[in-house]
Formats: sequence, structure tokens, C-alpha cells
Amino acid sequence: MSQATFAKELTAKFAQLWTEKTKRPLPPVNQAMMQRLRQGQRQSGPNEVFSRVSALFRDLSLIPQSFENAELQDMAMEILPLDRLYSVAEERAEEEGERDNWGLQDYLIMELLRWFKQDYFTWVNSPPCETCGENGNVQFVRRENSTPEEQKYDASGTEVHQCSNCNTEIRFPRYNDLSKLMETRRGRCGEWAKCFAFFCRALGLRTRYIWNAEDHVWSEVYSERRKEWIHTDSCEEAWNSPTIYSQGWGKKMSYVVGFSGDGVTDVTRRYVRKADQQLPRTMVPDEQFKTILNSITSDIRQNLSPSEKEELKREDEAEERELASYNADEPQEAQMPRQSGSVEWTKARGEGGSDD
Ligand SMILES: [Zn+2]
Repeated sequence: MSQATFAKELTAKFAQLWTEKTKRPLPPVNQAMMQRLRQGQRQSGPNEVFSRVSALFRDLSLIPQSFENAELQDMAMEILPLDRLYSVAEERAEEEGERDNWGLQDYLIMELLRWFKQDYFTWVNSPPCETCGENGNVQFVRRENSTPEEQKYDASGTEVHQCSNCNTEIRFPRYNDLSKLMETRRGRCGEWAKCFAFFCRALGLRTRYIWNAEDHVWSEVYSERRKEWIHTDSCEEAWNSPTIYSQGWGKKMSYVVGFSGDGVTDVTRRYVRKADQQLPRTMVPDEQFKTILNSITSDIRQNLSPSEKEELKREDEAEERELASYNADEPQEAQMPRQSGSVEWTKARGEGGSDD
């Protein structure tokens, strides 16, 4: 069987699994919903700050909607090493699944994490020199507007680096377009998290893009086995280790928010479990913050049937109980320090672990 045929069959298998699990077909790209989310940006709130915060989160909520694109998902299925991912996942599910309470999909993502970091995506501090091929002599010089060509692939700005060996300037556009990311296969946490979350979605899982106000992003996948959202960070090859940031890196955070195709959720408590790791939440009063997220979720779910909405609401309530159960001052296990990023870059961010 060819890789393409195999991929098609798996896509069909997952479409079926998705339908069975969620009781609804894989959604097509929903133009009407994208429009609604964008229009909401122009809705006015009680004040200017409320409107700006609302616009920011509505903007972020478009990211998982962009995953619902059959053409892009087909591209992903051509790239993913499905044979390898599945054979390892099936073996582990059989041998360890019962004992560790993980399902086939969970092992699939664990294996995807390994492949993504070790074989697929590259971390970039400075890009290699395109002229002399040297790697160690290139340094950041400035950030500037992306060219029209770079903007075609949704670049949010372009870094210019320079090689001290031959003086060549090297451009590093910060692309957001998924097809471009599947081509460049490089970046920092933004590119990593987006591409990885999209691959999880292409494999049929429900996926969240996780945004943190203190400049890091990662992802979550929904475990059908555990009926819970599971932390995943492709930069760190991390599975279900939500305290690596606060405990491992000594990172303090204010807001952590998850964006999925089904809604927007404040998941700060999953990642910040001690009072002294929590930074003040100063964007808007928490009640208004809740209103903003609920309004986006309600727009996303507008076209679902009453029973689908009911099911998601039950799921929200279960997660609410889970998040509330985390004792803010529970003793934590020691976690590994940050793996991605150069030592200097990590230190500059104050994330080298509590010894720095
Ligand atoms: Zn050079």
C-alpha cells in the first residue's frame, strides 16, 4: 500500500473515530464562524481596555479554526511518519495502556512529540549564514516589517541577523502560515506550538493552542481515554507535565488560556499551582475576563445542536472541577529545566530554573 493510500485510509479512520466520539462530522473550514469571531472584535465593551482585550482573544481564537482545513490536513498526513507513529503507539497501548491508563491516541501523541523534536522541527536562535554556511557567527541585529512576499505567508515581522564572518545579513521572517511552517520546519515556541498542535489535529485529536501572557505558547490534546485535556509542549518533548514552567523553569505567570475548535478556556490553574508562582492578573477584572472568554466560546458553539452544546457544557464543568482541585500550595515534584533555547536566551528570560 502506498503512503498516500495509507494516509487516506487513516484520515477516513479518524473521521469515523471523531464522529463516533464527538457525535458530529469533522467540521469543514467554517467561514461564517471566522467572520463572526472577527466581527466580535468591533463589538464595544464597557470600556476601551475591555474591547482591546476582547480583540486580542478573538484574534487568538482564530488559530485553531485555521486547523480545520482539509487541504492542509492532507499535506500534514503526507508528512507524518504514520507507520512509525502507529506501530509504536499500538505496541505501547497494548503493553502499558492498562497499567498507565493511557489510550492509543495518547501514545500516538507521545510518539509524535519525539519525532517532531528529534527529526522534524528545528529550534532557531539565529538562522545559519546563507553565504558561508557558518552557524556560530550569526547574531540578531534588528526587527523590521516583513516584505510583501513574506506577508503572503502571514509573517508577523522579520528578524534580521548578521554573520560576523562574511557580513551577510540573513532574514528570519516569523511565519504563521501552516503550509509555510511545514516547509521551513523551524522557529521558536510560536512556530513549534502552532505546527505541532495542527499535526495533532490532523491526526484527528481535539487540540488546544495554549497562550501565556508571559511570552510562551504550547498546546494541549484531549485524551479520550482519560476524558481530560493533557499538556503537551513540543519544544520540550513534554507530555502531561503542566508544572514544568512554574516549577522547572521558575516561570511566574498571570494568564494561561487554551483555544480549541470548541471554545476558549482559562486554564491558568493547571499550570500555576502555588500562590507565589501567580503573577497579578491586571488585564481586566476577572469577572470581565470570564465574560470575554464566554462570549467567544458562545460564538464558536453557535451552530451546534442543543445536545452537542450540552455535552460540551458538561465537559467544561468537569474541567472546572479538575482545575479547582489543584491545591495552590501542594508540594511539587522536581521538574527538568528548560531544554529548548540557548543558555543565554534562557537566562535572559529568567527561565533557567530556580538556581539562576
Ligand atoms: Zn557568513
